[in-house]
Amino acid sequence: MAADPAPHRLDVRHLSRSFGALSVVDDVSLTIAPGQVTCLLGPSGCGKSTTLRMIAGVERPDRGEIRIDGQAVFAPGRNLPPEARSVGLMFQDFALFPHLTVAQNVAFGLTGDRAARALRVDELLERVNLSGYQKKHPHQLSGGEQQRVALARALAPRPRVMLMDEPFSGLDNRLRDGIRDTTLEILKDEGAGVLLVTHEPDEALRMADEIALMRAGRIVQRGSPYNVYNAPVDKAAAAFFSDIN
Ligand code: ADP
Ligand code: MG
Repeated sequence: MAADPAPHRLDVRHLSRSFGALSVVDDVSLTIAPGQVTCLLGPSGCGKSTTLRMIAGVERPDRGEIRIDGQAVFAPGRNLPPEARSVGLMFQDFALFPHLTVAQNVAFGLTGDRAARALRVDELLERVNLSGYQKKHPHQLSGGEQQRVALARALAPRPRVMLMDEPFSGLDNRLRDGIRDTTLEILKDEGAGVLLVTHEPDEALRMADEIALMRAGRIVQRGSPYNVYNAPVDKAAAAFFSDIN
């Protein structure tokens, strides 16, 4: 059989997970194309982070399948570890290694010879506007600069899928817009599929190509920001967006 000519970066089918009697993620399916940003949007506790952690491979689904670039990373009889899934991760807590330099942080997930790694580090630091920061330590950087180092580190091994869990919520408003825009531009350039988790409707409306609206473990609506905002699926969805100023 011929291979799918244009596989999705991410293809999640019927993903489910319970903790005890609590069904936290219930039959979630979604696809992300190369260079596409999908925002998983919903209130606190609806199951967004659990979904993301299952895709990353750090939480085991009860049911479902996960494909990355057409390759099954989780399916019956198959469960690849996180490092074999070609996913990049970014969280609110940037979690840079404090004792390592910026260059060492960015190079952390890289293999290959020293010269090739240094080249990739320099290229990425230039990309996030931190040329010349190689030898600094995280504590010498502002919050926004640390966030950009975390982005460079996550991008270094060229992940097919970038998973971001509220990555901008620790930043103050002044910095946030600029960093959001830079981050998106770089991710789209690299051709990754991006799954961005947020509980803030305005962030999803600003950043998403597609919004997947989640409530109580289920995706209740999928569509463009325009569509989801202007044609909410029900009253609760309309109310969720109505707080935006
Ligand atoms: P969100 O990221 O949307 O805020 P989470 O995926 O973090 O939601 O959590 C969804 C629900 O699952 C919450 O009620 C949370 O308490 C519960 N939950 C998450 N992880 C665990 C766990 N390891 N054990 C028990 N309950 C959990
Ligand atoms: Mg969460």
